[in-house]
Amino acid sequence: MSRRPLIAGNWKMHLTVAEAVQLAKALAETARNCPDRDVLIAPPFTALAAVCTAVAKSTLLVAAQNVAWEVQGAFTGEISPTMLTDLGIAWAIVGHSERRQIFGESSAMINRRIHGALGNALHPILCIGETLAERESEQTFTVLQQQIQEGLDQVTAEQMRTIVLAYEPVWAIGTGKTATKEQAQEVHAFIRGLLTAMYEKAVADSTRILYGGSVKPDNIDDLMQQADIDGVLVGGAALQVESFSRIICFQ
Ligand code: PGA
Repeated sequence: MSRRPLIAGNWKMHLTVAEAVQLAKALAETARNCPDRDVLIAPPFTALAAVCTAVAKSTLLVAAQNVAWEVQGAFTGEISPTMLTDLGIAWAIVGHSERRQIFGESSAMINRRIHGALGNALHPILCIGETLAERESEQTFTVLQQQIQEGLDQVTAEQMRTIVLAYEPVWAIGTGKTATKEQAQEVHAFIRGLLTAMYEKAVADSTRILYGGSVKPDNIDDLMQQADIDGVLVGGAALQVESFSRIICFQ
C-alpha cells in the first residue's frame, strides 16, 4: 500500500503576518519542485487569511493549529470550523500535546474538536504521544491506545479516510531528542495494528501516520525510510526556509 508522504510544519506561536507570508511563499516554491508529496503549513490564526491568499495558487496545504466544535456561539477565544473553511482552509491540527498539557484539553474535548472538523469538511491531524514518565514506566502503548480510542470515538471508517494521525512523543518535542527511527517505527506499527483492530486492514493501510518531535534535516531521511512513517510534523525546523525545504525534499 503506498501512502502519499505528508510533510507538515507547525509554526506554533511564531511569526508576524509579514514574516509568515514571506516564509509561505518561499515554501510554496519548494513544494512545487516536489510534486510527489504533500506539503502543509500551520501558521498562527492571525496569519491564516494572509497566508491563504498568498499561496492560493500553489500546492501548499494550509492548516489551523486547532479548531472548535461549534460553528458559532459564545466560545470566547475559539475559532470555528466554518470560520476556517471560509478562508479556504481544509486542515486542522487537533490534540497537540501543548494543547493537552498547557491548556488542559481532555481527550473528550479533543474528540469533540475532531467531530467539529469532520462535520465541516476539514481534515483533522490528530496528535498523540506519551510523556517521558509514561515511556519510562512502560505505559507508552497503553497511553497511545487510550488517546487514539478516545480521540477517534464515534469516528467511522469512511471518516478515517480524511484523518491523519501524528505520533509525537512529548519528550521529543522541542528538546532536540528525537525518537530513534527504530523507536518511532515500533510505535507507528503498533498504531497501524490498533487501527486494524478498531476498523479494518484497508483503513489501517491507507491512514497516514506522521512522526513529530525534533525532526531536523539530519534525521528526516532515516525517519522517512521506515515502513510505517508516512510523513512528519515539524515544529522548530519548520520556521526557516532552508531547514524546512531540506525536510520537504527528503530522499
Ligand atoms: P519540534 O516540534 O519539531 O520543535 O520538536 C514538533 C511539534 O510540536 O509538532
